[in-house]
Amino acid sequence: MMTLLELKDVTAFYGPVQVLDGVSLSVPDGGAVGILGANGAGKTTTLRAISGSVRAGGSIRFDGRDIRGTRPDRVAALGIAHVPEGRGTLGDLTVRENLRIGAYMRRDRKAIAPDIDYCLELFPQLKNRITSAASALSGGEQQMLAVARAFMAKPRLLLLDEASLGLAPSTAKNVYDAIRRLREESGIAMLVVEQNANLAFELVDSATVLETGRSVLTGTSTELRDRDEIRRAYLGG
Ligand code: ATP
Repeated sequence: MMTLLELKDVTAFYGPVQVLDGVSLSVPDGGAVGILGANGAGKTTTLRAISGSVRAGGSIRFDGRDIRGTRPDRVAALGIAHVPEGRGTLGDLTVRENLRIGAYMRRDRKAIAPDIDYCLELFPQLKNRITSAASALSGGEQQMLAVARAFMAKPRLLLLDEASLGLAPSTAKNVYDAIRRLREESGIAMLVVEQNANLAFELVDSATVLETGRSVLTGTSTELRDRDEIRRAYLGG
């Protein structure tokens, strides 16, 4: 499979403070890759380096072109949608308005209404809330909206940060089941940061483990699930 996204020896800084020091990973076109690691390991920062919201060094290539240092709006226009930790929906706007805004850069205007219908089929809970303000939704519904809004941009790559954060286990599973279906039906590639490795391994084909800002281990989901240190650190024994 063609490589869609490739990071080589990526570094990143908040002001003078270096928080990434050699992150390397690649996401095949249509593939799904996880990023595992302890709190503060640099998972969120890796996604920010890709989407252009933090200063980065090293090499970041998307679809054959160097995108390191590209502004976030340009990165989005190239086909990378970022669902940040904390979801980033527009609270004062309705569910429908959030979905429409997700599609604002698209030229295929006629396909937008059917894509909204698809989102509501994927996340039926959003259907009853279509005219509600995003801020009035439950945490799970907000997460669903954040994913649906990113889908509405018709990206080639989705950056997903901690989609299970703060959700009840059954809700988190619902969200991930829908994301897996979206992956299968859309072919959108995904780079997934997730504390809950059990959920992540249901979605991704492979994963990279970060330790203090550096990639230390990469393997398929099956290989990683079987390793003792991964089980101890991320799978509860
Ligand atoms: P978590 O799961 O806790 O979000 P993470 O692996 O996603 O962890 P990052 O959020 O990428 O880790 O943070 C990496 C390091 O950068 C941490 O030491 C963190 O304290 C630091 N950091 C994060 N954001 C900032 C910021 N805006 N300014 C300064 N330092 C930051």
